[in-house]
Amino acid sequence: MAVLLSVRDLRVEFSTSGGVVTAVDGASFDVGPGETVALLGESGSGKSVTAQAVMGIVPKPAGRVCGGSITYDDRDLLVPGVAKGLRGREIAMVFQDPLSSLNPVFRVGAQIGEMFRRHRGASRREARAAALELMKRVGIPAASKRLDDYPHQFSGGMRQRVMIAMALALSPRLLIADEPTTALDVTVQAQIMDLLRRLQSEDGMSLVLITHDLGVVADVADRVVLLYAGRVVETGPIREVYEHCAHPYTSGLMASVPILDAPRTRLTPIQGSPPDLLSLPTGCSFRPRCQYADTHCANEEPALLQLSRRPTGHQAACHHPEGVLANAH
Ligand code: ADP
Ligand code: MG
Repeated sequence: MAVLLSVRDLRVEFSTSGGVVTAVDGASFDVGPGETVALLGESGSGKSVTAQAVMGIVPKPAGRVCGGSITYDDRDLLVPGVAKGLRGREIAMVFQDPLSSLNPVFRVGAQIGEMFRRHRGASRREARAAALELMKRVGIPAASKRLDDYPHQFSGGMRQRVMIAMALALSPRLLIADEPTTALDVTVQAQIMDLLRRLQSEDGMSLVLITHDLGVVADVADRVVLLYAGRVVETGPIREVYEHCAHPYTSGLMASVPILDAPRTRLTPIQGSPPDLLSLPTGCSFRPRCQYADTHCANEEPALLQLSRRPTGHQAACHHPEGVLANAH
């Protein structure tokens, strides 16, 4: 399979007052051209830091990439300056909170147009026309009237559309959307997901969709990568993972959201609390919250292993995948 983005054994550390935490601990995943990959996990599992590492924006000096590799289209993103040169043009990002990324004192049309002025040498008039086209494309009603509005005059959902328009301005081949709908209500969430899916299929771009909500990615993602304490604990084609999930964390996340057409009415959050990265247990990090945990799990960290004999790419890092598989249905 062709690969556009390849993340291998990525490690990112932060120095904190309590000591050094490993926010991303040996994560690997690939994103193919035109593919949508969901990075999924509870808050604090290392999703945003993974995205920061790809974009070359891990906050310094506290954070640093201390191991692994990130390759985009055969270019090494960890070489200083390389990620910066691709940011915005080849790889663009959309964040959870558009207000923090938009400048409150500039009109929205001018902010989108600035992308064309700065990177494409467009005139003011050309930039305005291009901004209008993009605003229409992302489904902002009465776009020509809204060009001259300020960010605060837009609703949350419309602001997110503005951010998506800015991200798409230079036709990136990879879009990373970090919890793009988390701040929005459910109806607007669905509209933004529909928009992302439409844009993705029109442009054939690759999409990395970061979320803590399995329900959001159910019918958008091709593959899913589940992160726990900075490690990949399960990955595979989304259908395969949904139907034959093999890690208790995944089944826990599934039980806490109503997904697909599965008749799951019981909504139970995963018991216990998210891991403290400063004092992870020995062996499997998920062990304190797991009903299958035994001494093997305490003594040995489970490796990410292939599950099926068919080459589906479905892998899980659990000593008791059969138990999870048997119980999940
Ligand atoms: P999420 O999966 O919610 O996006 P993050 O990737 O933002 O989680 O963070 C993962 C962990 O990395 C956090 O729980 C925290 O311990 C650590 N971390 C992230 N950003 C920083 C930072 N700027 N300074 C110190 N630690 C950080
Ligand atoms: Mg995050």
